[in-house]
Amino acid sequence: MVEDAGLVGLATIAVAAFEAGDTILTAVGVALPEPTMYTIQYDEGTHVEVDGPMRHLAHSRAPNARIVFGTAARVRPVATRAIAPRDRLSFDYCATEWDMAAKFDCCCGAPTCRGAVGGFRHLAATSPHLAAALAASAASPYIVRRAAAVELQSDAVPASAPSAAAVPA
Ligand SMILES: [Zn+2]
Repeated sequence: MVEDAGLVGLATIAVAAFEAGDTILTAVGVALPEPTMYTIQYDEGTHVEVDGPMRHLAHSRAPNARIVFGTAARVRPVATRAIAPRDRLSFDYCATEWDMAAKFDCCCGAPTCRGAVGGFRHLAATSPHLAAALAASAASPYIVRRAAAVELQSDAVPASAPSAAAVPA
């Protein structure tokens, strides 16, 4: 269910208990070419605009759910730990968004919270170890692919330097 959570706007609250691995709900959205405040990124150039309770899942660096995609427009939050009725549902927006349309300052209170939330791209730039941990756990297939490409690029620079230096002058 969705309720007014004051300063943070509307929040989706669990109405039942869930165990880790449970599908909390299934939302079928509309695939858009550009991100909006209410989209979840499926792939490069595919952003799923969701409505209903799915729209108001909060961001957290210590969330209780992660996003699983079916087809491009079918989105399922899956519990990553036990959830009690009345718990606010959350996932890490950086697990699905590369570069968010609506960046904001987070107040989730998690020890790993980095304040500004702008997407995986920004997390990787400011907190590479947190980004790596996210890519290895809850990140979407798209983010994992994109993160691997970034790592390959940054690895390529130091790897080429020693081999060039090893060539006798
Ligand atoms: Zn936070």
